[in-house]
Amino acid sequence: MLGVAEDGSDRRLSQLKILIDTGLPATDRRKRIVVVGAGPAGLSAATLLADAGHEVTVLEANGNRTGGRVKTFRGVFTDPALHAEAGAMRLSSEHPMVLALADKLGVSRRPFYNADVLPDTPTPPTPPVFYRSFTGEEWSNGPRLRYVPPPTAGRGLLRVNGVTRTRGEYAANPAEVHAGFGCDLATTSGECLHTALRQAAVLAEQPIERQVAVWAKLLSDYENHSLRSYLMERGWPRQRIEAVGTLENLTARLRHSVVFPLVDHTLISSEATYWELAGGMASLTDALAQRLGPAILLGRRMTRLEQTEHGVRVWTTGETGDEDSDGRPADPVEAFDADYAIVAIPLTSARFCTFDPPLSYDKRRAIIELHHDAATKVLLEFKTRFWERGPAGFRGGRCVSDSPSRTMYFPSHVADSEGGVVLASYTFADDAMRWDSLTEGERVHFALAGMRELFGARVDSEFTGVGVTQSWVRARYALGEAAIPTPGQLHDHHLATRSVEGRTHFAGDHTSLDTAWIEGALESGVRAAREVHAR
Ligand SMILES: Cc1cc2nc3c(=O)[nH]c(=O)nc-3n(C[C@H](O)[C@H](O)[C@H](O)COP(=O)(O)OP(=O)(O)OC[C@H]3O[C@@H](n4cnc5c(N)ncnc54)[C@H](O)[C@@H]3O)c2cc1C
Repeated sequence: MLGVAEDGSDRRLSQLKILIDTGLPATDRRKRIVVVGAGPAGLSAATLLADAGHEVTVLEANGNRTGGRVKTFRGVFTDPALHAEAGAMRLSSEHPMVLALADKLGVSRRPFYNADVLPDTPTPPTPPVFYRSFTGEEWSNGPRLRYVPPPTAGRGLLRVNGVTRTRGEYAANPAEVHAGFGCDLATTSGECLHTALRQAAVLAEQPIERQVAVWAKLLSDYENHSLRSYLMERGWPRQRIEAVGTLENLTARLRHSVVFPLVDHTLISSEATYWELAGGMASLTDALAQRLGPAILLGRRMTRLEQTEHGVRVWTTGETGDEDSDGRPADPVEAFDADYAIVAIPLTSARFCTFDPPLSYDKRRAIIELHHDAATKVLLEFKTRFWERGPAGFRGGRCVSDSPSRTMYFPSHVADSEGGVVLASYTFADDAMRWDSLTEGERVHFALAGMRELFGARVDSEFTGVGVTQSWVRARYALGEAAIPTPGQLHDHHLATRSVEGRTHFAGDHTSLDTAWIEGALESGVRAAREVHAR
């Protein structure tokens, strides 16, 4: 969590250097390594090992793309210049590995506006990546440049309990909006939540030994708490939880472990800024995949892994159909032999694989029990960016509503197009599962209705008729958004997710404490590559 290695050094810093600067040392014991899964974890592990001189084969179930939950919809909109993100969409300034990897691969990044800005806001220059270790050492990939994010416009909309306000109006008079929940809170939901979760505001400035002690206590005190029970223990009445949950799009995640919200609000500063990749997020995984070239075999789904003391054999089936719709494992069955394997697929997918000999008891329990959440997106294409026009116009940022759509995100930048794609509904957990039950056409219909509630009938004439949707629960190789532990699961399962089983190593964001972030996937890829390289 704090990146302290067993010997007291900064694990994050050493991983950053390996991934970006040095790679792994060239090997004098060339091994045959099978990497299962070509998401960011598998691709980063495979690249490091191949560059170090090992013979690497990557087996990817998907027949037509790599990237996993990094997936950009391209070529599906009426305007070919437009693209939109089905999965990951922003990179945090607190995640140096993924930002520096994008820079290293020449993948251009630009600001992602989490909060709306004025439509004519000039794009600030992109600063190099900077990381300061708790050891005092600093790492950067360019001359230091202070990034000053543009001011927020406060024009994005909130609509709850039948009342619509801009974010600026809400910030000026939060009590008016909260009254609809029967709640007398006078600060904004964001400030209120941040105060409740930011347990130790000065942590980053304290000696690392003190930080470790504080975190050990936080974990022992709250590991078994859900976000809801944690807030109740701090004296929050039900109405405040409902107001903040609704306005922060957290209602559906209130029953999950409080540990990750605590990490996000304590370790990730409120000053975090966000970045997107100009060509779409998949340009990062595409660039990694390009480096591996023919070492990646698409359409090979692992169904069984056998290992002896001498080697591993991974059995795969060919695949038919689309990753999001009908399909079934099909012949031909093909086996791949290697000295070692790295399994970099979600545990949800590993659930449908067999292992001989069986995996350890703890690993099997993690595969069976670790909670994976749902997330669903509905993306609608519009002929013009009408929300940017007029005195109330805004660019980027999000609107929040208590309609089924819950959160809408607007594009931060659009190049070479009059139009734009809006993430018209972004939902998690139970909120997402409602959408998962709908057909593709119904999802588009109801997301358009959600937009109409906020922007009126003009959405109908502006809609191009093209909407695309992504349910991550129904995606056959992901089977969920990400591992989001319920109370107690971090303690019960986290170590088992990453433990080595014979000649088989495990990677994936679920094995990292940065779960549900590409940074966590890369961290796990570097760790697994180091483990195998060292054998
Ligand atoms: C909706 C959503 C929003 C997100 N937003 C962000 C964000 O804004 N920023 C961010 O940093 N992260 C975000 N993430 C998380 C990020 O996408 C993941 O952390 C990252 O993709 C995990 O990488 P991975 O390699 O561990 O797994 P994956 O990306 O899932 O890759 C696993 C690969 O294994 C393949 N596979 C599965 N089963 C098999 C099998 N049996 N045999 C062979 N191959 C198999 C899959 O097809 C896939 O290619 C988001 C995720 C989702 C779903």
